[in-house]
Amino acid sequence: MSMKGKKGIIFGVANDHSIAWGIAKKLLEEGAEVAFSYNGERLKRNLDKILQNYPGCKLYDCDVSVEENVLKVAEQYKAEVGQCDFLVHAIGFANKDYLKGAFLPTPKDVFLQAMDVSAYSLVSLTRAFKPSMAKGCSILALTYLGSEKVVQNYNVMGVAKAALESIVRYLAYDLGKEGIRVNAISAGPVTTLAARGISDFTDLVKIHRKIAPLHETTTLEHIGGAAYFLLSDLSSGVTSEIMYVDGGYNTVAVGPMAAYDKE
Ligand code: NAP
Repeated sequence: MSMKGKKGIIFGVANDHSIAWGIAKKLLEEGAEVAFSYNGERLKRNLDKILQNYPGCKLYDCDVSVEENVLKVAEQYKAEVGQCDFLVHAIGFANKDYLKGAFLPTPKDVFLQAMDVSAYSLVSLTRAFKPSMAKGCSILALTYLGSEKVVQNYNVMGVAKAALESIVRYLAYDLGKEGIRVNAISAGPVTTLAARGISDFTDLVKIHRKIAPLHETTTLEHIGGAAYFLLSDLSSGVTSEIMYVDGGYNTVAVGPMAAYDKE
């Protein structure tokens, strides 16, 4: 099924390694009209380069922690594009000084900033774009297993992702009667700019590969394909779900013995 005739916006493309780019590429290939939001001039230059083969995409500057920015981009989008058939939230941030070691020292300001940018922004973006959304619209967020199980060093981001997943369910409940769906993909570890802020991330990727039933690293193509399903009418009966795209890692309690350091 093609995305021809569908229009929407993607938040969170920092470069061509971004998960949001994996999703955008698939949607563009399937014929969707995709607008992008970037956080500051530096990222606009990256986007301009990445989008050389896709001329005409609308670009909007938005720091999602600033409510006026969110309202402004939603208004601009409504005026310039009109309908919003899909919205992708691929945004996360926490001070990397606290993405290592113990969780307990996390100060309040670090906690609140992680919650604001990584979780609350899904509420403010959905509310601001709602006037452009109609029956059939699909909203998608990105999460990680560290929301429900402890993953060393993920710390405050795990707490923010737990909130994000809960927000997905409450928004899906609110908006379901209007035919608007809200889901999330829980992706396996992918080496991106944001991920590199998490201590020992390279080891996390290696461990994932050893233990996941598919024994491979999660790719942008894996996530792009699942996102296409969730954002298209193929998934018209699916809402309020957290879909794992992690090679099955989340289902394994004890994997191959060779993956563990036995004394
Ligand atoms: P990424 O390429 O670094 O993308 C993160 C994006 O969030 C960047 O574009 C970043 O822009 C943006 N952002 C941060 N603060 C913002 C703000 N205040 N306003 C607007 N945008 C802001 O990393 P990614 O790994 O693809 O992350 C995308 C999503 O996937 C995140 O929600 C992440 O938690 C989730 N996820 C990642 C993995 C993984 O292993 N990589 C696994 C599961 C889920 P700036 O660069 O300007 O901050």
